[in-house]
Amino acid sequence: MKREGNPSESGYQLLERKGISRRDFLKMCTITCTALGLDLCLAPQIAEAAAANLSKKPLIWMQGQGCTGCSESLLASLDPSPDQIILDVLSVRYHPTLMAAAGEQAVQSMEECIAKGNYILVLEGSIPTADPRYCMVEGKSFIDQFKKAAANAEVVIAVGSCACYGGIPRAGFTGAVGAQDVLSGAKIVNLPSCPVKPDRLVSVILYYLSENALPLLDELKRPVAYYRYTLHDSCDRRLHFEKDEFLEDWNDAETTDYCLYHKGCKGQDTYTTCAASWWNDGVSYCGHAGSPCAGCSEPEYYDGFAPLFVNPKEEK
Ligand code: SF4
Ligand code: SF4
Repeated sequence: MKREGNPSESGYQLLERKGISRRDFLKMCTITCTALGLDLCLAPQIAEAAAANLSKKPLIWMQGQGCTGCSESLLASLDPSPDQIILDVLSVRYHPTLMAAAGEQAVQSMEECIAKGNYILVLEGSIPTADPRYCMVEGKSFIDQFKKAAANAEVVIAVGSCACYGGIPRAGFTGAVGAQDVLSGAKIVNLPSCPVKPDRLVSVILYYLSENALPLLDELKRPVAYYRYTLHDSCDRRLHFEKDEFLEDWNDAETTDYCLYHKGCKGQDTYTTCAASWWNDGVSYCGHAGSPCAGCSEPEYYDGFAPLFVNPKEEK
């Protein structure tokens, strides 16, 4: 996936060649500004600076213990197109699922990039600590490979709950942890949820390309802009919660839009913008689709919130 082309090509020329107009790119940067709570006047400035750095910043995407759902989430987005920005425009030197190269050729590409430094490292999936054999890359332990790649990275972006906190694999026996648990001193940003929300990833990358810094993070290394409020704060079922109207029977057509708390909704403990900025390019999100929030962006997810879809009053 190494991007070929004219080294003197400007960022905007590169974008045009990849089918992203200047106008679309500016739109992405405007969305980034809105999402990160920045003045919209900064959008052209961010677009200019980010475009100038697009061609200079390689990206390595590593996959530990996970289901590849975060990559899938990125590919499934429509408009604006984060996958185009990340996979087509940035120089992705290694992605185990998506790159055309395989075996030694793929590893060589990653090794060369690591040796040069000056790259963004994305981690998808968790890191096993109980035994290195639970996750190996090209015959080597994943934890060693990841630490080696992180040592030379400018920034490490943990995408999805597995990469941030261990996620679903942490409920098992592999000693699964997130990037921050095995790195010290690295510049890390966590983008938890299961899977990662693509617009958050592209915003953080565009901001980083523009400012050479991360957006404001909370104590859990999450961008404050995306994790400042709970789902409960902006949930469209909230009025029913206030009126003690809870869905009890899935088959009762009269109460389908009632609060899902009695069905195990974790929205009161879950910091996320899902209800304010819907998934799949604004098509829907869990609560709107009738599913209780599972708390997938919290460190406790999954085992700390299990069983997921049970009335808290009935839990032991
Ligand atoms: S469905 Fe969940 S997030 Fe929405 S109001 Fe009820 S408890 Fe809160
Ligand atoms: S609503 Fe809850 S379970 Fe659904 S994606 Fe958002 S944080 Fe995860």
